[in-house]
Amino acid sequence: MEIILSIKNLNKRYGSLQALSNVSFEIHKGNVYGILGPNGSGKSTTLGIILNVVNKTSGEYSWFGGTMQTHEALKKVGAIIERPNFYPYMTAKENLELVCKIKGINYAKVNEKLELVGLVDRQNSKFSTFSLGMKQRLAIASALLNDPEILILDEPTNGLDPQGIHQIRDIIKHIAAQGTTILLASHLLDEVEKVCTHALVLRKGEVLYSGLVDGMSANEGFFELQADDNENL
Ligand code: ADP
Ligand code: MG
Repeated sequence: MEIILSIKNLNKRYGSLQALSNVSFEIHKGNVYGILGPNGSGKSTTLGIILNVVNKTSGEYSWFGGTMQTHEALKKVGAIIERPNFYPYMTAKENLELVCKIKGINYAKVNEKLELVGLVDRQNSKFSTFSLGMKQRLAIASALLNDPEILILDEPTNGLDPQGIHQIRDIIKHIAAQGTTILLASHLLDEVEKVCTHALVLRKGEVLYSGLVDGMSANEGFFELQADDNENL
């Protein structure tokens, strides 16, 4: 199967804090991956490193089998790792058109992606009037404008009400069904179980489990994670 991302023995220290310890992981085309772990386990740090916004301390990662430079590879990656941020007094449609203009993408993609995230009805509403769930869906539409190989999301359902959570999860599943590879960081076990096919389980920067979601709960270390970090999970 085609390899999208390979991570080998990644380490990250923030001063004296070892945030990641020898994390290795492979992402293959077409699967839905979850990075699961409680707050502080190193999920966002891992995403930051592979997206080239956080410096690694040691280890390696390579995109698309190492066939291209990181900055070229990242053009084929859609990522939402911060709270959605658009121009508040521009409409949803205008905001996406601006992204198209900046990135040289055909404007026809705007309607396609607004449809995908269920925002066609609200395309002429200003961003400032959107609920957090709608903002998050607009961010997903924006990240998909150039039809990336992989979509990366950092805790996309945080702070949403049950309906908003359901909508986001359905959209992720829909995008995955269309063949886009997904990498989703979450501290919610049920989210990873519902949405993902594969999981990397982190605890204090160490890999507790890596493999199919189906085999995940049978893993001894995983029960330890649930017991110890119950207040976070
Ligand atoms: P997660 O996303 O799983 O909650 P993070 O990757 O954000 O975890 O954090 C992993 C650890 O690294 C935590 O202990 C966090 O406090 C620490 N950390 C993250 N970013 C920084 C930073 N910029 N400076 C210092 N420590 C950081
Ligand atoms: Mg995080």
